[in-house]
Amino acid sequence: MSKRDYYEVLGLTKGVSKDEIKKAYRKLSKQYHPDINKEPGADEKFKEIAEAYEVLSDDQKKARYDQFGHEDPNAGFGGGGFSGGFGGFEDIFSSFFGGGRRQDPNAPRKGDDLQYRMNINFEEAVFGKEAEVEIPRDEPCDTCHGSGAKPGTEPQKCSHCNGAGQINQTVDTPLGRMVNKRSCPSCRGTGKIIVDKCTTCRGAGTVQKRKKIKITVPAGVDDGQQLRVAGQGEPGVNGGPAGDLYIVFSVRNHEYFERDGDDIYYELKLTFPQASLGDEIEVPTVHGKVKLKIPAGTQSGAQFRIKDKGIKNVHGYGTGHQYVVVKVVTPTKLTEKQKQLLRDFAEISGDIPEEHGSSLWDQLKKKLKGE
Ligand SMILES: [Zn+2]
Ligand SMILES: [Zn+2]
Repeated sequence: MSKRDYYEVLGLTKGVSKDEIKKAYRKLSKQYHPDINKEPGADEKFKEIAEAYEVLSDDQKKARYDQFGHEDPNAGFGGGGFSGGFGGFEDIFSSFFGGGRRQDPNAPRKGDDLQYRMNINFEEAVFGKEAEVEIPRDEPCDTCHGSGAKPGTEPQKCSHCNGAGQINQTVDTPLGRMVNKRSCPSCRGTGKIIVDKCTTCRGAGTVQKRKKIKITVPAGVDDGQQLRVAGQGEPGVNGGPAGDLYIVFSVRNHEYFERDGDDIYYELKLTFPQASLGDEIEVPTVHGKVKLKIPAGTQSGAQFRIKDKGIKNVHGYGTGHQYVVVKVVTPTKLTEKQKQLLRDFAEISGDIPEEHGSSLWDQLKKKLKGE
């Protein structure tokens, strides 16, 4: 989907002043406001205008946009798109419709964000996958088509405000008498009163439905990280944009791999003869088996690095490695023949040379021998 240039949306060209941006926004947002303009597409246009203004009215966002356009590399891996508060927009909105911020129930509001916890296994986190999630969220009620009124009935015009949704309030101030518009308390600003409520949604106009959404689990994602799916939260109110959906990943532990950032650790058990004489062993990695040469005289705790067999970084910063940590296993059950061979081995081997021996142990031996 190619996005229109924000300046173009506001009918401007790059380099215009802040005032001109503000003026253009005021004019267009009034013209396309969904409460005023009932033409098809006005709603979309209004959102587009609000989004353009949200960026161009913010010095920092505007500077980034002027430099990168819609391709901001720091927009996060959440799929790009439009995010963030609608603060600037609401300030302006209240300035020409009267009433305080957030007080006007007819003001466009961004829908709520939703959070969804998704369980994935170790390999799915490493390689990513296409998935479908089912999100419960509010959708317009099918029975009443969102009006909230029982089929066959209509919401009635509010008699208190005569359907305007707002009432005039006269206030005396030091500067003179001022007329403030405020939201009608009877209809809570909607201009309508529902007499016979729809039984399906109990007058709310929306019902909770399970919506299926396709997502891509990014390769390399780690436990606790989240993915933002723009515009898949709760629907916006009064023509405001929909909220976002945040998917938080919970990665199950692997049977024998352990993850540390983009690196993978694997414990390799070796017998005493393998560690002493050396061996060539096939080691599992998430990318398949890899041959590993164990040099003669390998100690328990030794680490080998298998380059680039770790996890591809989720932000594209290279690939981790796999570390193989050796554990020499002492046998617990021995046959008589094995025991004899070990006794013979011990006899011809002698003690561990002094410099590698434990000094505590040496002191103890000396004591026992009466030295
Ligand atoms: Zn309904
Ligand atoms: Zn009213």
